[in-house]
Amino acid sequence: MRHYTLSLGLFASLAAAPPRLGAQADSAARPGLGAQGDSIADPVRTLVGRLDLESYKATIKGLTQFGDRRQGTDRNRAAVDWIEAQLKSYGCTNTERITYDYQPAPRPAAGPRPAAPTARPQGGQGGSRIRGIRARTGVNTDSLAQKDPKLRALNAQPTTPGQRQEVYCTKIGTTRPDEMYIIGGHMDGHGWGEAANDDGSGTALVMQLARVFSSPDVTTERSIRFALWNNEETGLNGARAYIEQRQALQGKESPAGSGKYPEPKWLGMIQHDMMLFDHGMPRADGTLSPEQRPEADVNIEYQHASKAAAESQKLASFFQLSNEKYATDYPAAVGPHMTNTDSGPFQDIVASISLRENERGAQIGAGWDPQWHQPSDVFSTYNDKDFLLGLNAAQTTLSAIAQLTGARLKK
Ligand SMILES: [Zn+2]
Repeated sequence: MRHYTLSLGLFASLAAAPPRLGAQADSAARPGLGAQGDSIADPVRTLVGRLDLESYKATIKGLTQFGDRRQGTDRNRAAVDWIEAQLKSYGCTNTERITYDYQPAPRPAAGPRPAAPTARPQGGQGGSRIRGIRARTGVNTDSLAQKDPKLRALNAQPTTPGQRQEVYCTKIGTTRPDEMYIIGGHMDGHGWGEAANDDGSGTALVMQLARVFSSPDVTTERSIRFALWNNEETGLNGARAYIEQRQALQGKESPAGSGKYPEPKWLGMIQHDMMLFDHGMPRADGTLSPEQRPEADVNIEYQHASKAAAESQKLASFFQLSNEKYATDYPAAVGPHMTNTDSGPFQDIVASISLRENERGAQIGAGWDPQWHQPSDVFSTYNDKDFLLGLNAAQTTLSAIAQLTGARLKK
């Protein structure tokens, strides 16, 4: 946490400095000065400009060729291979895999269901409070609900227990290779669609950031790991396996004297899960607006009841400020009820936040995304206003992480 605090302190002092007249001419005369306030010399703005809507959409489209990518299937394994090949093609060549065993918990025996809690009738997940109109949610398990026969066939192979893999690659820091931020999304899905939004949209975001940061003219002082979790939909099992296998390795140089750190010390974990769809609250009849609402925003959440709540809240706030400065279209909002995604297992260990289209507990959980775990979560459901929200989340994370890791462009 020490270095994280330092970084924020540095940024706060820069942000608090009064605007300087003639900053561009000034920084041209004295290179290296005024980088934070100068749009020409600002490497963060240059990096954000290397994200584009067409590449982001193409990566989501690429993921949808593997259908819903359900864990424990050939289509899931083929997607892991494809993601790894893409990361390498971007120059993030040091890919590695976590291998773990997944055995689903036995189904509870049928019997009377426990009474629903009555104390907080409006209580949503993560400690949130649900307001207004709710629509139905759930996971579609009916193959025939998918009307496209080709997609139905693609998703036909059932999941089987056993070995699982997930892939990551790492941008290694120049001066602090022993410290890193982890940027994540989950590549598995379910529901008999294409898992385009949940979570092709977050997976593609992480992959696009890997592309930008892996460009040969980009350096960062600290390291960045790009992780594409598997088994999120079954209970965050891929993220849990990562923590189990790697938490104790943090900050250890190996081999000794090599300057190599297989598991840099974790400075923060930033998860991206469902990035596209913010059409507002369901109407009284349960339907939704067909268009992205003009007030659409990126929802940055931390968990107020976690051990790392204070650091997580600071990190969330820093991301919001980065959005304000660098995102082109949509603003960001911060909420305290992060829940039900891969940043959860990290929340008591290190600063952890999630970025989403809506708040998970109070909004997605109340039916604000009718495609969630449904056959309709396919690429063709979304239009450019939807994809643009995901791109703005990418701009938010890229700009925040570029600042926190000391990103620079080689001359
Ligand atoms: Zn998800």
